Amino acid sequence: MRDDLHKDTLELRRQMIDRQLRARGLRGKQTLAAILRIPREHFLPEHLHREAYNDTALPIDFGQTISQPYIVAYMTEHLDLSPHHRVLEIGTGSGYQTAILSMLAAQVFTVEHIPELANLARKRLDVLNLRNIEYRIADGTNGWPEYAPFDRIIVTAGAPYVPKPLADQLADSGILVIPVGDREHQRLMHIRKSGDRFIEGTLIGCRFIKLVGEQGWKD
Ligand code: SAH
Repeated sequence: MRDDLHKDTLELRRQMIDRQLRARGLRGKQTLAAILRIPREHFLPEHLHREAYNDTALPIDFGQTISQPYIVAYMTEHLDLSPHHRVLEIGTGSGYQTAILSMLAAQVFTVEHIPELANLARKRLDVLNLRNIEYRIADGTNGWPEYAPFDRIIVTAGAPYVPKPLADQLADSGILVIPVGDREHQRLMHIRKSGDRFIEGTLIGCRFIKLVGEQGWKD
């Protein structure tokens, strides 16, 4: 990771961490350290740089959004990552969440179905010298069978139900975090695989862009 970039926004990240993340109870040292190091403005179009540390999701291209910092931190916390983990991410989008994952895991496999977004995210992540990332342009509702099983899977688009291929591609003791609900509102689900059983829990409510695909929304 190159630390010479974006030093000037370090103080804004400190404030964001205190006011948006710690203030809402997020305390994970590793997660917060990763968020401190990744410049969020780097993942936004230039005209939105001034808003990079606002407490909101923001528009990127093709009608998609970069998630709210709190949601990124919250999902990352609930993945309970270790440095040896292989992580599958569905919905690369801007690449911001990918950057955080890449700091905390051994390898990140990220899937995005809009080629322009995938290519731009890759360029941005390369500039930061984050190299433990594999990219795929495809419908992520089918997972990435060639690299399965995964220790962790994170879906950053709202699904109508849990896509079976994703549950199938979890390693034993693996964790899947995914927003499930209708087109407007979802709840984050936390699913842990234990032998041949899945232990499901529901976390906070959220609003994500639709997960569109074979095992997602059809339009
Ligand atoms: N984590 C991203 C969130 C981007 S929004 C960020 O913070 O920037 C959700 C992303 O999921 C969009 O880029 C959208 O194109 C992508 N997406 C939706 N359905 C998908 C699918 N079936 N496979 C892969 N990506 C998908």
